[in-house]
Amino acid sequence: LVVVDHVDKYFGDLHVLNDINTVVNRGEVVVVIGPSGSGKSTLCRAINRLETIDSGTISIDGDVLPDEGAALAKLRADVGMVFQSFNLFAHKTVLENVTIAPIRVKRMSRKDAEAKAMELLERVGVADQAKKMPAQLSGGQQQRVAIARSLAMNPKLILMDEPTSALDPEMINEVLDVMVGLAEQGMTMIVVTHEMGFARKAADRVLFMADGAIVEEATPSEFFDHPKSDRAKDFLSKIL
Ligand code: ATP
Ligand code: MG
Repeated sequence: LVVVDHVDKYFGDLHVLNDINTVVNRGEVVVVIGPSGSGKSTLCRAINRLETIDSGTISIDGDVLPDEGAALAKLRADVGMVFQSFNLFAHKTVLENVTIAPIRVKRMSRKDAEAKAMELLERVGVADQAKKMPAQLSGGQQQRVAIARSLAMNPKLILMDEPTSALDPEMINEVLDVMVGLAEQGMTMIVVTHEMGFARKAADRVLFMADGAIVEEATPSEFFDHPKSDRAKDFLSKIL
């Protein structure tokens, strides 16, 4: 579904993505881990072109990501993105947050969009919050709304960049449970997270990045129990 082929990116002299190659198949869950500054967020952002790349190609479902224009908007509609900071529209209700893209981008009727939104809010366990404004919700509830919002577009792929790292500990599990549910239902996901429990439970593969490169790519049990590189061993010794 996603093919990342010889991708390089520089910020000035900094080689933030160094010959990245990977393939994510439909239904796979890939967890990206690595030290701060290793390029994890940049890779996620490059996959839906929130960030340009300097060489190589990224294709989604066979279409190479264009740099701009209507073709990019169309591809992006297929890629959901969930950020650390929720990024909900603060001046819109929870329900409106979930219906706005289907109505504006997919030209869905308000009635259909609202019915679908309520179904999704139900699925992530916040249907009772639909009429509230985002600021009236806990962080965990807001992040679950953000997940419902991305699902509302029927994405082929969801990218999540540290979706639980801004949450208080007691709210992390409610979001992880939703993520595990999505994984079990066959959603294709690329998730940057240091939540090893999630990686072990839900990931098909772990990508370990350091200094802009993919240093290891392995199943969770291979990676956590038998890391090969010194970089990975060192990283794991610090977080486990
Ligand atoms: P973290 O775990 O802290 O989120 P990360 O692995 O997501 O780190 P990135 O955010 O992808 O790392 O950043 C990779 C490198 O690129 C870092 O050295 C960062 O300082 C640099 N960088 C990121 N965005 C920019 C930018 N817009 N301009 C210049 N440098 C940037
Ligand atoms: Mg990051």
